[in-house]
Amino acid sequence: MVQEANPFESLQEQIDDAAAYLDVRDDVIERLKNPERVLETNLAVEMDDGDVELFRAYRSQFNGDRGPYKGGIRYHPNVSRDEVKALSGWMVYKCAVVDIPYGGGKGGIVIDPKAYSESELERITRSFAKELRPLIGESRDIPAPDVNTGQREMNWIKDTYETLENTTAPGVITGKALSNGGSEGRVEATGRSTMLTAREAFDYLGRDIEGATVAVQGYGNAGSVAAKLIEDLGATVVAVSDSSGGIYDADGLDTRAVKGFKNETGTVSDYEGTEAISNEELLTLDVDLLVPAALENAIDGELAHDVNADVVVEAANGPLTPDADDVLTEREVHVFPDILANAGGVTVSYFEWVQNRQRFYWTEDRVNDELERVIVDAFEELVDAYETHDLPNFRTAAYVVAIRRVVDSYDSAGNWP
Ligand code: NAD
Repeated sequence: MVQEANPFESLQEQIDDAAAYLDVRDDVIERLKNPERVLETNLAVEMDDGDVELFRAYRSQFNGDRGPYKGGIRYHPNVSRDEVKALSGWMVYKCAVVDIPYGGGKGGIVIDPKAYSESELERITRSFAKELRPLIGESRDIPAPDVNTGQREMNWIKDTYETLENTTAPGVITGKALSNGGSEGRVEATGRSTMLTAREAFDYLGRDIEGATVAVQGYGNAGSVAAKLIEDLGATVVAVSDSSGGIYDADGLDTRAVKGFKNETGTVSDYEGTEAISNEELLTLDVDLLVPAALENAIDGELAHDVNADVVVEAANGPLTPDADDVLTEREVHVFPDILANAGGVTVSYFEWVQNRQRFYWTEDRVNDELERVIVDAFEELVDAYETHDLPNFRTAAYVVAIRRVVDSYDSAGNWP
C-alpha cells in the first residue's frame, strides 16, 4: 500500500476543492480545515510480565458546530497525530452529508494490538478511557469503533466511564455489544451503506448491478459486509483481499464462505479454488465496481492510471490520494466518496445513541429501513449538487453539501466571544 500522502493534507485539499464552488469567507474555510483541539497523551500500562509500557494516544475534536464530536478509535502502528486529525475532519463532513446532528472527532492509539494479550488490551483501553473521560460524554464527544477496535473495546470504555462518573451513560460510546446497550444492525451498518451507495450509483449511471463484477480490497468489518450485501444484489464478487494478499475467482466467490474461512484462519489467502493475487493486482482488475475497504492511501496518482474499474465506491476512509482523485476524474471513472459510502457506521451509531438516550430499543428492520432512507436521501442531495453546480466529481459534490451545512450552523449560531 502506498503511504506517502499525508491524510491531513488530503483532507484540507478536498475542502479547498469544494470551497471553490461556495461563497464562503476565507476565515470560515480556514477554520473548517483545522481541528478545534487535539489531545495527545502517553498511556503508561502494566504488561502481563510486570513491565510498564508507554503508548502514544490521541483524540482530535475537529468541529462541534452541528452537535457533539463523534468518531471512532483506531488501534494501529501507523496512527499519527495527522492521521487522527484527518479522520476527525472526515467525520465532520460525513455527519453533515447524511445530515445527522453531530460534529466530528477521532482517536487512536499507536499500537499493534495483535502483539498484546486480551488483559493487556483491556488495561490499555481502560487507561485511554481514563484520559478521555474529561473530554467525552453523551452530549460532548461520543467515540465508536474503527480499525482494530470493536464491541469489546467499546464495552470497556463505557464501563470505565460509567464507573468513574458513578452513573449509567450508555450513550457515551457507540458500537457496543447488544447486551451493553448496542443497536441492532450496527455491525453491518458500514458495509450496508456501501452497498446502498453502490446500488444507487449504478442506478443513477444507468448500469445494472445485477451481474456486475466486483473487487473488494480489505476483508474486515466494512469490506466483508459490503461484499456480502453487494453479492446479494446479484453482483459477482470476483476478488477480495486482506493484509496478507488477495484471492481471485472469475466465476465469483462465495463471500460468506470466504468470511468463515478468514474467521477460522485469520486470512482470506489460500481459500480453496482461487488464484492468489497481490493487492495491486486487485486494485487494477478489470471489474465494474471496485470497493477499497482497507486503509487510507490505497490508490495514489500513479496506480490510478492502472485502475480498470468503471465505478469506485469507497468503504474505507481516504483510500484515494488527491492525485488519484484527479486522475480518476480525468479518466471519467466515477468515484462515490467515503463520506457517503461508509456513513452507515456513524448513522447507525447515531441511532444507537438515540436509543440509549430514550432507553427504548428498535428492531433490526427499523434500523435498516431508517438507514436506507438516510443514505438514499443523501445520495439524491449529492447528485442534485453535482448536477446543479456542474461539479467535476461526486466527492466535490459531497463536500459542497456538507460544508454548506456546517457553515449554516456556524453562521446562524454567531461567533462568540
Ligand atoms: P477492520 O480492521 O475490520 O478491517 C480492515 C481490513 O483491511 C482487514 O481485513 C485487513 O487485513 C485489511 N488490510 C489492511 N491493510 C491492507 C492492505 N495493505 N491491503 C489489503 N487489505 C488490507 O477495519 P474496518 O472497520 O473494516 O475498517 C476499514 C476501513 O473502513 C477503514 O478505513 C475505516 O476507517 C473505515 N470505516 C469503518 C467503519 C466501521 O464501522 N467499521 C465505519 C466507517 C469507516
